[in-house]
Parts: sequence; C-alpha cells; structure tokens
Amino acid sequence: MATWAISEGAEKQCPQCGSIYVVKHHQVPVKDDDSADCEVCGIELERWKSTRYPVYTLKERGQWPKHNDMP
Ligand SMILES: [Zn+2]
Repeated sequence: MATWAISEGAEKQCPQCGSIYVVKHHQVPVKDDDSADCEVCGIELERWKSTRYPVYTLKERGQWPKHNDMP
C-alpha cells in the first residue's frame, strides 16, 4: 500500500531508514517556516512555509544505522 498520501492521520515512511510516522496536520494563524526531521536517522522528511503544518508521530522505528549498505 502506498503510504505517501497527505491527509489526516496518513502514514509516511522515512525514505532513508524506513521508520513509519503518522502524520497529522495542524492549522496555525501565522505562517510557520519550519521542517520535520526523522527522529531515527535525522533526514529531513518535510519542509514547509504555510499556516498548515504536519506533525509527525513515530509509530514504528526503522533499522538505523543499516548494517548491510555501508560504502
Ligand atoms: Zn529516518
């Protein structure tokens, strides 16, 4: 199943470590310029500049660091 749809309570998977987040959107009265980083591996998951911003809640921790694809 695709998990990239942006809607209330959608799940999103980190492209780097595979952790699964539940994404909910909040509305604020002023524009917010911020970003959300993966709690597990630190990659930037999303960056926004709007009055609507995502809140990422870690649901399933991915395996990080990976052991099988070191350079
Ligand atoms: Zn990650």
